[in-house]
Amino acid sequence: MKRAYNFCAGPAAIPEPVLQKAKDELLNWGESGTSIMEMSHRSKEFQQIASDAEQDLRDLMHIPDNYKVLFLQGGASSQFALIPMNLLRGKKTADYVRTGIWSNKAVEQAKQYCDVNVAADTMDKGYNYIPEFSSWNLNPDAAYLHYASNETVGGVEFNWIPDTGDVPIVADMSSNILSRPIDVSRFGLIYAGAQKNIGPSGLTVVIVRDDLIGDALPTTPIPLNYAIQAQDASLYNTPPTFAWYLTGLVFKWLKEQGGPEAMAVINERKAKKIYDVIDATDFYQNDVDPECRSWMNIPFQLRNKSMDSVFISEAAENGLLNLNGFRTVGGMRVSIYNAVPEEAVDALIVFMKDFEKRYG
Ligand SMILES: *Cc1c(COP(=O)(O)O)cnc(C)c1O
Repeated sequence: MKRAYNFCAGPAAIPEPVLQKAKDELLNWGESGTSIMEMSHRSKEFQQIASDAEQDLRDLMHIPDNYKVLFLQGGASSQFALIPMNLLRGKKTADYVRTGIWSNKAVEQAKQYCDVNVAADTMDKGYNYIPEFSSWNLNPDAAYLHYASNETVGGVEFNWIPDTGDVPIVADMSSNILSRPIDVSRFGLIYAGAQKNIGPSGLTVVIVRDDLIGDALPTTPIPLNYAIQAQDASLYNTPPTFAWYLTGLVFKWLKEQGGPEAMAVINERKAKKIYDVIDATDFYQNDVDPECRSWMNIPFQLRNKSMDSVFISEAAENGLLNLNGFRTVGGMRVSIYNAVPEEAVDALIVFMKDFEKRYG
């Protein structure tokens, strides 16, 4: 069977060796006689899988000991509410940076829990750049500052970390976690839905500095209270065991590849190849400020919009799948997470050049 090249924004490509291993172990994990899916989350086998996954993530991201790693449900979107619920700590206001559709959703949700100060905003200018840090309107009394380190729809990525002094930084890294090294100690909290750059949907990773938890709003659902889940090693209630297991396999695969340090080199190269094709002609367009173009998600437009559907369907006929842009935005989008091999990018580039030759 030939597998296609998958450029889906999420749920996204998973490394083939991981899928193969999961297939081999599906009916009988280890010597257990059962599938992971059929195993108690309290069993010693699953507890080992769970703690190995945590340790591997700690190794990959060099997570300091004073940070908790939580494996939760509800997706990144639930974190938009859970962050204020867990992290306001008696404060009344939080700073938000709005650089795209996802950080805007975080703003809208947070407004139900606190006064939101939008410290920097590109909503009215098409979400295609990051305002200079010196222009941000920061509030020293904010409970935290929230931003999305990579806007998955707009293709706008931070390659720097703001300096907010004593105000903890909260980052939505759903679509660029593990794509390059980052200094975890600069953050109060990092969260990511797993289905973009990790693997399966159904799991959300939260990395949080331990002094920030333990003062959640009383209305916080218990299974989504960071302090309670931290105390119970994310096993307060039944976790998504199969997604957690598969995530652990991806972490092991990433370690074999050399971790975020090695992925960063490949990711930068993959992205540059595509931007080079886009920039070489006015047949293709990407209007994101080159200073903050994403390595993970590359949206682009055809000069002639009526050709979008032809591009997407001809690409699919060539085994290049899921190149459509976000449903409310249209155009095209290439998602090239860690699990998308460089051959996939090379095949796409051949197709893009040929498409331009035929229709340009
Ligand atoms: C996909 C995405 C989300 C939403 O994730 P869900 O798990 O579907 O809730 C939030 N933020 C970013 C940056 C994303 O890419």
